[in-house]
Formats: sequence, C-alpha cells, structure tokens
Amino acid sequence: MSNPIRDGFRAGLAQGELLVQKCNDCGGLNMYPRHACPHCQSLSLGWQKASGRGILHSYTVLRQGAPQGFEGDLPYALGVVKLQEGVQLLGRLIPDPDGNWDSYKCDDTVEFTPVSAESIERRPCASFKRINP
Ligand SMILES: [Zn+2]
Repeated sequence: MSNPIRDGFRAGLAQGELLVQKCNDCGGLNMYPRHACPHCQSLSLGWQKASGRGILHSYTVLRQGAPQGFEGDLPYALGVVKLQEGVQLLGRLIPDPDGNWDSYKCDDTVEFTPVSAESIERRPCASFKRINP
C-alpha cells in the first residue's frame, strides 16, 4: 500500500541518500516524517537531502533478545543519531572490521553510509559508521 511518508524516505535510502522531511511553507525539518508539519501544521511537505553527518547520541548492541523477525540479524547495533541539521533518527551502526562495535562511543561523529538496495528492501533503515577523529 502506498504511503507518502514511508515511501519517500525509503526511496531515498534505496538510491543511497538520506532524506529528511522539509516543510514547504515554514522550511522546518521533521524527523521522523509526519503527515503535518509540527512547526506550522502545513500539509505541504517535501524532502531535503541530509548532510549525512551527525553525532551518536546513544546506541545499543543487540546480541540476543531481538524482536520477532529480527533474530537472523543478530548481532546488530542501533543508534540515535542527531544530524547536523538538528533532527535525529534511529539507525543501524556499521560494525568495526572485526564485526564488533567496540570503537563506538556516545558523542562520536558518525556518517550516513549507503547500503545495497537489497539490504534497504529487507531492512529500510539508515546505516551510519563512526568517523575517525
Ligand atoms: Zn511548517
């Protein structure tokens, strides 16, 4: 079923872009996307390509106890990323080369990292990796 909020975000991810919703009336950014602008209640909403850079506000590594349907993804890491644009979202964290996330710390700078379209089809979420300082 078509869903303008979900589909726009996912289409961006599938093309390797991180999009944030932008209000066509007040210019405010919304993340997560909404049906109406939370700043001015406008229904005229579009998309803006995000810088992709942000700060890792918080994260967790799941090694067991995944939600139903996600058991096969274990282990994986989820992080709350505050983008430079000021909005934040939940995304997956790309593991270190050894398959763990030991190098990650809260307040690290992270960068949106495109993944394959097949991966987005399966798990339509943004992925981020830590940027070495
Ligand atoms: Zn607005």
